[in-house]
Amino acid sequence: VEHLNWFVRCNRILRDMEGSLTARDRVGIQDFVLLDAYTSESAVLDNLRKRFNENLIYTYIGTLLVSVNPYKELGIYTKKQMDIYMGVNFFELPPHIYALADNVYRTMLTETNNHFILISGESGAGKTEASKKILQFYAVSCPSTKLLDNVRDRLLLSNPVLEAFGNAKTLKNDNSSRFGKYMDIQFDHMGGAVGGHILSYLLEKSRVVHQNHGERSFHIFYQLVEGGEEDLLRWLGLERNCQRYSYLVQGECAKVSSVNDKSDWKTVRKALSVIEFSESNIESLFAIIASVLHLGNVTFVADSQGYATLNNSPEIHWLSKLLGIPAQVIQVGLTHRKIEARSEEVLSPFTVDQAVYAKDALAKAIYGRTFTWLVNELNESLANKDSSRKTVIGLLDIYGFEVFSVNSFEQFCINYCNEKLQQLFIQLTLKSEQEEYEMEGIEWESVPYFNNKIICDLVEEKFKGIISVLDEECLRPGEATDMTFLEKLEEKMGGHAHFITHKLADQKTRKTLERGDFRLLHYAGEVTYKIFHLQVMRQSKNAIVKHCFPSTEPDSKKRPETVATQFKSSLVGLTEVLMSKEPWYVRCMKPNEGKQPGLFDDVLVRHQVKYLGLMEHLRVRRAGFAYRRRYEIFLQRYKPLCPDTWPNWKGTAAEGVECLVKHLGYKPDEYKMGRTKIFIRHPRTLFATEDAFEVC
Ligand code: ADP
Ligand code: MG
Repeated sequence: VEHLNWFVRCNRILRDMEGSLTARDRVGIQDFVLLDAYTSESAVLDNLRKRFNENLIYTYIGTLLVSVNPYKELGIYTKKQMDIYMGVNFFELPPHIYALADNVYRTMLTETNNHFILISGESGAGKTEASKKILQFYAVSCPSTKLLDNVRDRLLLSNPVLEAFGNAKTLKNDNSSRFGKYMDIQFDHMGGAVGGHILSYLLEKSRVVHQNHGERSFHIFYQLVEGGEEDLLRWLGLERNCQRYSYLVQGECAKVSSVNDKSDWKTVRKALSVIEFSESNIESLFAIIASVLHLGNVTFVADSQGYATLNNSPEIHWLSKLLGIPAQVIQVGLTHRKIEARSEEVLSPFTVDQAVYAKDALAKAIYGRTFTWLVNELNESLANKDSSRKTVIGLLDIYGFEVFSVNSFEQFCINYCNEKLQQLFIQLTLKSEQEEYEMEGIEWESVPYFNNKIICDLVEEKFKGIISVLDEECLRPGEATDMTFLEKLEEKMGGHAHFITHKLADQKTRKTLERGDFRLLHYAGEVTYKIFHLQVMRQSKNAIVKHCFPSTEPDSKKRPETVATQFKSSLVGLTEVLMSKEPWYVRCMKPNEGKQPGLFDDVLVRHQVKYLGLMEHLRVRRAGFAYRRRYEIFLQRYKPLCPDTWPNWKGTAAEGVECLVKHLGYKPDEYKMGRTKIFIRHPRTLFATEDAFEVC
């Protein structure tokens, strides 16, 4: 406690120093709301740079936390730091992810409601690390019992398991999450963590069969081959050599200096046991992982008619053993398509190219289903069986806006997801902020903002949106081609302010577009997409997948859903989950493209300031009132500061507050009285009151 007091005091002095120019010049300001030239992007950038150079990676915009990846250990995530931030007023200490975590937690406990923390940013910006820090903070600081220790361990250990199966080395990040993740942490009324639930989004399955130069497949493959016990590898028919497996060497970088596959294997293996995966489930899991590797090594040769045949390769033997399917079925399944003609099944042979394509599709399907199964198992283990009322804090760690030189369906989904989240931000924050002022009868200048609903509609609207057109085309096999899809889009979207193609563009823009591209003007900027390959969109039926996952095969009589529609439905579901909760934001940024410590690239950061919508957020915060308190709460806390309100105020709470702030000398433009709350423009006003309170 003494240490804490000392720390708080030091920070007070530091904070006071922020008022003095020299300190401000050096370390910048810890809340952008306090910035004088708040509307300019350059001022925001300057402040971020100053702080970054002093190793101060966190800055607030009100209660939103901005974080810049330091790419080095700062020693700010120790148990001692957690203790310092636990239960302390948000603005008492320098900005920190723990301060945000603590604030969310305490609000949840006092208001018994649900919350979520949206963590966004580009790949490599520090989202996953941030979400882990928050989870660790709760694991350490929440009250616990013997029983709850068990839950806590499972919550923490679900991370390395998910990362092993869902993360991979990319050019941007050695541990890049290749799926979106939403995790609910459930708390009982005492504040103990009692359970959890995970939702995953859009796993990048294509990585299983193909990786760009300098990238890897999912970590788990390398962990198994490098770290798997001798007996296990023998049983799986694997050699301890990644170079042997075609699916692991597409990117020519099976080894990554920052990753230790051997020790990660041990962690994952241990985690699986703690999470109570049965030994037989673990066996099946690795049998499937190994079968993907064997599948990758299957090669085809053309027979005299050009059709694909299999050499009697050892891979088929292992596949048969590990998947429990007769070798004959695998052999036929890999080289033939099944066609249903009048309730009769006819086999039609593949060419070699078709067979390779089908093999890759199978590998992706197997891995994708396994990942889904894994998440379900984790959820089973994290589930809280007690039915008493619980409150939750959700953590959303999701890919930020993406623009590459070539953008495909994957980027389309990711950027659509970001449009939805921006829409949610508008509804939950911008709109609700303005509505609160209106409701409270507070006069203020409304902030103009771009409502991106028009773009969400362009993508998802029933019968009219891009996804709807895509579905229609996918369901017209034979007739529809990538080009007819593009033409349909042009027909339906022509004239829409946010959609252009070569044909629709004016002369100047046309030069920047190819026939076969379409461009969307997203809220964060324009992105040009290659027209999607319909072939890839259609869900293929596969005899072997049916064998492996009989119960999960969707009802074949139902209209098949395309990948795009599935993604749309899952996003709609997510939005619904989030809409009922109170939002908090962490915006992560990357200081440079080289993963280097100490390097702050102005152009790159400015770009992110824009894409992350920081200026908009700041404008709203700044135009309005940074802080607000219900009259009752404000009066209750500060009434000792005024002889008229202490110990008991006879009138209404609002009158009491009025009397109190007059006594404290609040200037008229510093605050406004709403219907139920007092609104305070600057945090420094509240700081001063809080200081007076301490002294008294
Ligand atoms: P994202 O999930 O946004 O793609 P990660 O959270 O995986 O990015 O971060 C990428 C890498 O950056 C991490 O592996 C780590 O090396 C470094 N990093 C991120 N956040 C921090 C931090 N707060 N302190 C130190 N290093 C960090
Ligand atoms: Mg990540």
